[in-house]
Amino acid sequence: MRTTVVTIDGPAGAGKSTVAKQLAKRLHFSYLDTGAMYRALTLKALRAKVKLEDESALVALAKKTSIDFKEDPRQGLRVLLDGEDVSEAIRQVEVTNQTFYIARAPRVREIMVDWQREIGTKHNVVVEGRDIGTVVFPQATHKFYLDANFEERARRRIKELEEKGQNVEAEKLKQELKERDTKDMTRTAGPLKKADDAVFIDSTDLTAEQVVEKMSERIKGHKVSESQGRK
Ligand code: C5P
Repeated sequence: MRTTVVTIDGPAGAGKSTVAKQLAKRLHFSYLDTGAMYRALTLKALRAKVKLEDESALVALAKKTSIDFKEDPRQGLRVLLDGEDVSEAIRQVEVTNQTFYIARAPRVREIMVDWQREIGTKHNVVVEGRDIGTVVFPQATHKFYLDANFEERARRRIKELEEKGQNVEAEKLKQELKERDTKDMTRTAGPLKKADDAVFIDSTDLTAEQVVEKMSERIKGHKVSESQGRK
């Protein structure tokens, strides 16, 4: 069976996760957070004290790792690293700031991409990340690139962390966000970039619901024109 894949790429703080979850719910699709996979492997590498510069060691680690997702009725989607619920642990600043080691390693990315494609061929799915429309699912029918201006993305990140009870130094966070943007956009393997055929949405002045509405309209519109095309 061919599945339908909706891809959402964009920088941190653009609203991808909130929007992707809501869109998946509305479409009755699964939801895949690929950033959580990079984060989970980073957490495992940090715990195992694997040298993050050593790509071969990271590949060996990835090959003996399982990353799964489980829907919890009360807590929502949970991330399981070798069976352990690491949903909170992978959001720690230390993990966030070290994920680039995993993200820049081409052979580790290949493994990640294989896992993501395996999931994408089993279910209809909304997938969010950085390279989903360009590398992981270049043939996806519905592709979006979600962005927002830097100040707004930083504001959202600060709010999100504060709501989790974390102490945030705004200037430090902005600096880290800027560095992460640069690293994500300039790495050779799977850089963050808009796929030529992705629809660009600027979420700076939009609520998550408005973004979901726009995406749903595009998806519905696409279906109509597809079926018209077949007549
Ligand atoms: O989306 P999130 O902010 O959780 O992603 C964490 C990091 O994982 C990103 O900054 C990026 O370096 C990496 N990532 C990636 N490719 C993806 C998803 C995330 O390189 N498809």
